[in-house]
Amino acid sequence: MTEARRHGRCLCGGVRVSVPVERNAVGACHCAMCRRWCSGPWMAIQAPEAEIAGETLRTFQASGFAERGFCEKCGSSIFHRPTLGPEIAVSAGLFDAEGLTLTHEIFHDGKPAFYRFEGDTKKRSALSMALEWGPRLLWRRIRRMGGPGRPSQVGN
Ligand SMILES: [Zn+2]
Ligand SMILES: [Zn+2]
Repeated sequence: MTEARRHGRCLCGGVRVSVPVERNAVGACHCAMCRRWCSGPWMAIQAPEAEIAGETLRTFQASGFAERGFCEKCGSSIFHRPTLGPEIAVSAGLFDAEGLTLTHEIFHDGKPAFYRFEGDTKKRSALSMALEWGPRLLWRRIRRMGGPGRPSQVGN
């Protein structure tokens, strides 16, 4: 790949990440799982081209739907990825802030009242997310049946 990339790292430096520079849109997720995971809305960059590496990288099957990556040494949140899909999102906080813009907020109806962001963002509800992701994930699960693939994950 010859494109310019944005580089980042976890708090201890054990995990290194990079995404294409033009991936500069940051989304915030207000869901209860993300808030429990990082003590606030989780801010992330969607980037299927993300490269993530490091000996301290670990993954956690957070639900039947997705896994989350973190650094086992310093605890930094690293990524979120659907079990059946390429839509990886990388923690925006791992990168220098220069050039990044907060563009959207998801599960906005799950946001607690004690904080809010300034500025205009596209806001999406839990229902809106379910309507987009439900059929997509169901279709992937159906296609996966009968074909070779990853063994089914715990919790499904
Ligand atoms: Zn670390
Ligand atoms: Zn979330």
